Amino acid sequence: MSVTKAGIKELRHKIDDINLQLLELLNERAEIVKEIGRNKKAGVNRFDPVRERESLDMLLKHHNGPFESSTIVHIFKEIFKASLELQEDDHRKALLVSRKDHPEDTVININGTVIGSGVQNFIMGPCAVESYEQVKAVAKAMKDQGLTLIRGGAFKPRTSPYDFQGLGLEGLKILRKAADEEGLSVVSEILSPEDVEKALDYVDVIQIGARNMQNFELLKAAGRVNKPVLLKRGLSATIEEFIHAAEYIYSEGNKAIILCERGIRTYEKATRNTLDISAVPILKKETHLPVVVDVTHSTGRKDLLLPAAKAALAIGADAVMAEVHPDPAVALSDSAQQMNIGEFNEFMEKMIEFKGRLA
Ligand code: PEP
Ligand code: MN
Repeated sequence: MSVTKAGIKELRHKIDDINLQLLELLNERAEIVKEIGRNKKAGVNRFDPVRERESLDMLLKHHNGPFESSTIVHIFKEIFKASLELQEDDHRKALLVSRKDHPEDTVININGTVIGSGVQNFIMGPCAVESYEQVKAVAKAMKDQGLTLIRGGAFKPRTSPYDFQGLGLEGLKILRKAADEEGLSVVSEILSPEDVEKALDYVDVIQIGARNMQNFELLKAAGRVNKPVLLKRGLSATIEEFIHAAEYIYSEGNKAIILCERGIRTYEKATRNTLDISAVPILKKETHLPVVVDVTHSTGRKDLLLPAAKAALAIGADAVMAEVHPDPAVALSDSAQQMNIGEFNEFMEKMIEFKGRLA
């Protein structure tokens, strides 16, 4: 039977009609899938292989058209997969740290210093607390620059067990004393859940380091206290994993979370890590939390601290973190990339000038 040109046109119209009906049915199906998704709790495994097997068997039982059974299975598996993604999207939007249901920025007040309000700040200080004199020298220089947030590691997460591990609680006491004398607030890393409570007497912000971004017990412990948490991005963590780590803290009740981009591991060897600068606007778009950029651990290079810090401010970071040591040459950790006091003063001068140009 030959079909005329007009006949083909008519058949094609029919195909288009059927396509539209299929589209309508797919959308109708998607609405039902979403409804089911809303009734499943977040975290519940949404893929149900038994249910999927039953659905496929039911379809094959009724199938008697020209398609191979495997083709029918393939087509429907794609539909099932797309539905699952729809449910996952819905849940992603439902994260507590997500901007979706919380459009306002989270603003964190640390003894009067505000992070996340649009005023860009600085968190500076030595890599590790080594002595009172060392911290005091940095604290004084910071005060002279009008800064208020001092960092310093008392518990150091070192790659080698033979490297300096930090002064522990003693280090926190030194940091607190020097900070109090200069009117500064303390940001310091805590490595284990047991130390979170103990640290509260000495720190104003609990730092969770890159190596602990997925230490879920530590995240939960930090989520149960009443002090802000600065959470660093894991060495090889995706942005999604980073956001989920923050969700661990937030979902325990602590809403004062500062995210810190500190570079990720890539194949590039010119810098210590690759500063993922675009993570800043992505994190600010996806979450309502403030975002800090650590230029020391990302670049690992003194000559890149200033340009990286400028990039951070220009792209909308809420604060810049960098390391300062009175005598970097003899520092017990990160000796190569800490600024000395003179370099710090110069860095701050250039940053203030740059901030003026941005405004
Ligand atoms: C730090 O800030 O002291 C530190 C160890 O950084 P990170 O966890 O990002 O490596
Ligand atoms: Mn360091």
